[in-house]
Amino acid sequence: MGRYASARPMRILITNDDGILAPGLVHLARVARQFGEVKIVAPDRERSACGHSMTMRDPLRVDKVRWEGLEAYQVNGVPVDCVNVGLTVAWPDGCDLVLSGINNGPNLGFDITYSGTVAGAMEGTINGIRSVAMSMAIFVTGAPFHYETGERWLLENWEAVVTAPTKPLTFLNINVPAIDYQEIKGAKVCGMGQRVYKDRVEFREDPWGRPYYWQGGVVVMEANSQPGTDVEAVSEGFVSITPVTLDWTDRELEKDLQRAFAHPVKTPL
Ligand code: MN
Repeated sequence: MGRYASARPMRILITNDDGILAPGLVHLARVARQFGEVKIVAPDRERSACGHSMTMRDPLRVDKVRWEGLEAYQVNGVPVDCVNVGLTVAWPDGCDLVLSGINNGPNLGFDITYSGTVAGAMEGTINGIRSVAMSMAIFVTGAPFHYETGERWLLENWEAVVTAPTKPLTFLNINVPAIDYQEIKGAKVCGMGQRVYKDRVEFREDPWGRPYYWQGGVVVMEANSQPGTDVEAVSEGFVSITPVTLDWTDRELEKDLQRAFAHPVKTPL
């Protein structure tokens, strides 16, 4: 039981897209278990950039694993599968919080559409559960992830994270700069920025001279031109907290389109 002990401990489901052995999971669980009962359901291997996909044509195998005294399962699926399996196997009566992460890389701007980490939070949200995705925003390949910074920030801000105003269909996407905790300037609630990649697809040749392509690419960081976004906040050393809604409708355009399609022209056959 943690600092905010109540009659019933908070029921927490943790998942990720880096797999059951990922270090980010350790740091996330270490904080969460201080405040509630944690159960872990995570992919059996790394499934980064799987987006909000789900497994439909193959069976899901669920194995209980030893995990530092916590109830934990590995699933041969993606984060969406893990959340839904978790709500069937680990928390059949539901839970109060879904945490996804801590991811070994940023999920800023458009990244969230590719992100398996974010998909875990999306699936929790769809199930009507308060959900949070958390990522370490590292920008230089090979630099330390500083998960301890994310852990410390979450520990210090736990109450705000779990009691902050929320809405149906909405979750929090949190990115923590991968720097020393002392260097963190604070937190900013902000909108989604735009992360643009260049040289997205790389041409290579295999040992037999046959071409292949590897997708990854370098991010063009133009944080200065994106005031008020997660991209800018993290680049300036702030933790970014973005409320993301699953209602993807553009409300303004919806009205314009209604006008545009108000009098459809019917061409005689
Ligand atoms: Mn990942």
